Amino acid sequence: MMVSDYTAPPDWAGLREAVKSCMRCKLCPTRTQTVFGVGPEHAPLMVVGEGPGADEDAQGEPFVGRAGKLLDEMLKSIGRTRNDNVFIANVVKCRPPGNRDPAPEEAEACRPFLERQIELVKPRLIVALGRIAAQRLLQTDEPLSRLRGPMHTYGPDRTPLFVTYHPAYLLRAPGEKGKSWGDLTQVHRY
Ligand code: SF4
Repeated sequence: MMVSDYTAPPDWAGLREAVKSCMRCKLCPTRTQTVFGVGPEHAPLMVVGEGPGADEDAQGEPFVGRAGKLLDEMLKSIGRTRNDNVFIANVVKCRPPGNRDPAPEEAEACRPFLERQIELVKPRLIVALGRIAAQRLLQTDEPLSRLRGPMHTYGPDRTPLFVTYHPAYLLRAPGEKGKSWGDLTQVHRY
């Protein structure tokens, strides 16, 4: 996999501008707009998904479709909201056509943006939603079944990170919702 040598702008304004006009991977020509992320810039909790879907591409905000509504409900149940105390971002900022998984080279091209977002937010805890986000953040090819469960750490600051199911998966497999709700109770410890 190609490793990006791009350095993302060090501040929020520069970063937002760089993402907005980014043409660093082949997701650029098919997007309606980039989806930067949403939430307070110093939120104690950061939630990371894989990439925008059709609704997000249209509205420019992450997790606004059905899966987003479910995520909001789940966060609300633990006293968190995107307006108050959660920053929500994705591994890639542009919609993969047909809602396919982002390709490794696309995730790698976008990685400096996500890394800078995490550096600027400085969350006390990161929650990775689903396999793609977990594998990219933890730089591993381990399956979700192995990554969900133990507490991990992210980056040189060893920020605690745990993995749970992506809400889109929970819509397809509602029987797993209880497990994800259980995962989220860990947030109270941070
Ligand atoms: Fe740039 Fe990321 Fe969009 Fe690719 S997905 S064009 S790297 S902002």
